[in-house]
Amino acid sequence: MRVGVLGGGQLGRMLALAGYPLGIEFRFFDPNAGAPVGQIGQLIAADYGDHAALERFLEGVDVVTYEFESIPVSTVRFVAERMKVFPPVKALATAQDRLLEKQLFDDLNIPTPPFAAVDQIQDLQRAAARIGLPVVLKTRRMGYDGKGQAVIRDAASLDAAWQQLAGSPLLVEKYVEFQHELSVIGVRDTTGREVFYPPIENVHREGILRKSTAPAPSVTPELATLAIEYCRRLMDRLAYVGVLALELFSVDGELFANEMAPRVHNSGHWTIEGAETSQFENHLRAVLSLPLGVTTQRGNSVMFNIIGHIPPVERIMAVEGAHLHLYGKAPTEKRKVGHVTLVAQTSAGLERGSIELGLALGLGSNDA
Ligand code: AMP
Repeated sequence: MRVGVLGGGQLGRMLALAGYPLGIEFRFFDPNAGAPVGQIGQLIAADYGDHAALERFLEGVDVVTYEFESIPVSTVRFVAERMKVFPPVKALATAQDRLLEKQLFDDLNIPTPPFAAVDQIQDLQRAAARIGLPVVLKTRRMGYDGKGQAVIRDAASLDAAWQQLAGSPLLVEKYVEFQHELSVIGVRDTTGREVFYPPIENVHREGILRKSTAPAPSVTPELATLAIEYCRRLMDRLAYVGVLALELFSVDGELFANEMAPRVHNSGHWTIEGAETSQFENHLRAVLSLPLGVTTQRGNSVMFNIIGHIPPVERIMAVEGAHLHLYGKAPTEKRKVGHVTLVAQTSAGLERGSIELGLALGLGSNDA
């Protein structure tokens, strides 16, 4: 079996690392000849619009998936006309546009922060008056890790936020004073069978994920069921195949959907050591029409991203139970270059280990 993966970042790399023990082979496609997957798999480096290169990429491949959310939809359509592609193109097209995404949530009765499309400054003024400040102005497309966003706290800042982001289609939404950010990761196979990992609690700073804890300590069984139900609705509507992550805000016992990612997700990296079957293996099982693996946890897990620079690895490895993953990327500011997962059998053990790991990673109290 050979899987073709569009995108050659760390997610693709971890897909391959999960697939090799199962005898699965991989071919990657990425415009960057230095993409991290090149170290461990066959990489075709060409522009996403290069049809001849895409044809070569497809030779001898059984199914195609993608690991990067900003792949041009036209590329995925080109591939889908020639080969099975999972997750479905519609999921990617929806996730790439915050407005379509929020409209889908609405349609499925999944609560979201109040939102409105913004094409002119007047739309922004009207929406801000209706929704009430503070609000967040976001680009509809190509936003990730907090890029393309401006928080507006007072009416005097409306104009500056508009100036900063105008030029691309925008969306404005209520700024949510959430207690926690959560995500839920589901997997659906080609027959419609679904499995879910328990909801995860995530800490972001500057829009970048810093830490994930699973299961989410703040989540009651009722809230967990609701989060999973929302993810299920999305997967069913999209006739989804593969891993889908849904990000949510939790506010006073209520959940509001922020966004979805039609791919394996950073907040699910803990599943490599912390669950019976990792999100990466389950994604491969789903797209290859193989039976899904159980998602049972092996304990409580915490995952820290390594961002910007790599701290001394000896210190990380000295923490009992810490599993280090480095992605083979050159460290630059705000770049995710690796992660560490700790699995413990008790929440007290997890707390102790987290503190030790936070120190080894040189994290401030905001992130640890
Ligand atoms: P996003 O790219 O939409 O996932 O935004 C990145 C991060 O910005 C989120 O994980 C939140 O921490 C924060 N954020 C985004 N939208 C909102 C919002 N409406 N209210 C509060 N925080 C937000």
